[in-house]
Amino acid sequence: MPTDRPLLGAIEAGGTKFVLGVGYGPGEIIDQRQIATRDPETTLAETIAFLGEHAGLAAIGIGSFGPLERDSRDPRWGHILATPKPGWSDCDLAGHVARALGVPVAFDTDVNAAALAEARAGAARDTQVSVYVTIGTGIGGGVIADGRIVGGKGHPELGHMRPRRAADDSDFEGVCPFHGDCLEGLASGPAIIARWGQSLSHLAADHPAHAIIAGYLAEMCNTLRAALAPDAIVLGGGVMGTPGLFDSIVETAHATDGGYFALPAAQVIRRPALAPVSGLAGAFLLAADLLDG
Ligand code: ZN
Repeated sequence: MPTDRPLLGAIEAGGTKFVLGVGYGPGEIIDQRQIATRDPETTLAETIAFLGEHAGLAAIGIGSFGPLERDSRDPRWGHILATPKPGWSDCDLAGHVARALGVPVAFDTDVNAAALAEARAGAARDTQVSVYVTIGTGIGGGVIADGRIVGGKGHPELGHMRPRRAADDSDFEGVCPFHGDCLEGLASGPAIIARWGQSLSHLAADHPAHAIIAGYLAEMCNTLRAALAPDAIVLGGGVMGTPGLFDSIVETAHATDGGYFALPAAQVIRRPALAPVSGLAGAFLLAADLLDG
């Protein structure tokens, strides 16, 4: 049992479950628990009780569902912002944990935490600039440059870019309540079910949905490449579990990028190495970074 390094707590705060861990880093977790996400009072009481079982925590990292305030200079730092999730709007998630346990807390989005973990220890560990995108109930992404999370006020909202509409997908209005046919409104899990009635993995292999969704996600990859010159774009989330989708995205991105980028699409676009625990791993790294200053 190592005693020379600080003991860390980690919270992956998701919309349906909280994954909690205690250990010396993502590779040395000594205790882990998963609880259902309910109202903030119940969920945070269970979270604090679990972490409180471990004396001597030096720092706690939280990677949370959003939207949230991650700017430490903002008085609302640590809060969940306006969310349709009942009871969670304006919840001071980080402050509640910090006060209850008397431990410094690092706070960021679950997607940024996962992006950090993939960049430090996963599929993008050989890169200088990388992007992690999760395509599931929503579409969200985090950007890492030189080992640090990129963001100013707020955090990246990669799912809300607007792709060019596919010719054979011109009628669907999209499901994003803010933008209609943004990327999330067109290619997230709920968007797929809204217009074809089933998840992508349940549609027949020759269904046109496969090429349409691959096309939107390939365009996203090429847009990210044009904006950020990432060495890696890591694609995770439930929709990416569809057989053949990953390869189709790579092929389409390659076929439509005009030969313009320095690296081939097949080298840049990657599968996650740490899923499904990259969010918890990232929360450990957030805690460790807090101690390192
Ligand atoms: Zn949107």
